[in-house]
Amino acid sequence: MERLTKNRERVREVLFSSEHPLTAYDISKECPEMSLTTIYRALDYLVRKGQVKSFTFNQYTYFLPSERHEDFFLCTSCGKFFQLECLAGSYEQNLRERGMIPSDHLILITGLCNECNEKLRVRI
Ligand SMILES: [Zn+2]
Ligand SMILES: [Zn+2]
Repeated sequence: MERLTKNRERVREVLFSSEHPLTAYDISKECPEMSLTTIYRALDYLVRKGQVKSFTFNQYTYFLPSERHEDFFLCTSCGKFFQLECLAGSYEQNLRERGMIPSDHLILITGLCNECNEKLRVRI
């Protein structure tokens, strides 16, 4: 395997040790020594190598390790991710019955987390 440069290695390490998807900006907070351009370049490389996957939501692109399968609840107020139990099995079963071959999925539910919901209720 091709050797990862120090920057790529560092970006990979930050992503793989995080429990939730990160934006390039999140990574830059962990790696203040790197410019955003360098981080984007490293991410681009890791995506091309298949080690990292990404998804875009509300103009933000999030990155996570390719090997990881997770579904999420994303709080649109505080931006926190919460892991969901994967319940996609019945969709996949249904697709297979229709002759399709599902290979991957991402379930993202958005809304207010309990803490933000609580704060909002106090204000009202
Ligand atoms: Zn929240
Ligand atoms: Zn799932």
